[in-house]
Amino acid sequence: MKIGILALQGSFAEHAKILEKIGTEFLFVHTKLDLEEISKLIIPGGESTTLEKLLKKFEMWEEIQLKIKNEELKIMGTCAGAILCAKFGARWEVDRNGFGAQQSSFSTILNSEKFPDFRGVFIRAPRFEKINPAVEILAKFQKDPVLLRDGNFLGASFHPEISGDPRVHEFFLEKF
Ligand code: GLN
Repeated sequence: MKIGILALQGSFAEHAKILEKIGTEFLFVHTKLDLEEISKLIIPGGESTTLEKLLKKFEMWEEIQLKIKNEELKIMGTCAGAILCAKFGARWEVDRNGFGAQQSSFSTILNSEKFPDFRGVFIRAPRFEKINPAVEILAKFQKDPVLLRDGNFLGASFHPEISGDPRVHEFFLEKF
């Protein structure tokens, strides 16, 4: 089983670059059929409303839900992807654009024991809210949790695919 990168819209090419850098085979996921070949899916940053629309249009939404329910699919969602994780059942809520609009995009070093000195790039980033206490917080920016794990979901409000640092991807590939 391979790892898939959802390639309908958004920063899928950047995710591909990181996986190439660490030498991992992957599949760009465009259709429902592609979902049959993967056990892990990366949902990139982009526009969550557009991604949701496209996933529904191409009948992938229900298929992903089913695979999550059957524990056949693990998901890493970055930014818009983390918003979709919440819709697919990860136990957090989001304030879309909670870190500000495009002009207030920023990059900063995160607080994380697991990923020391990791640079987080925030672009119209969602702010996590109402995080279930069972959810593991893997990184923070100031007081805000920005990298979360809930079972088979890994959600980042920032873009680990843009900083060029492969550690979050490696964690999803190897330890998840
Ligand atoms: N805030 C955007 C949304 O609502 C996500 C932004 C991003 O992925 N860079 O979809």
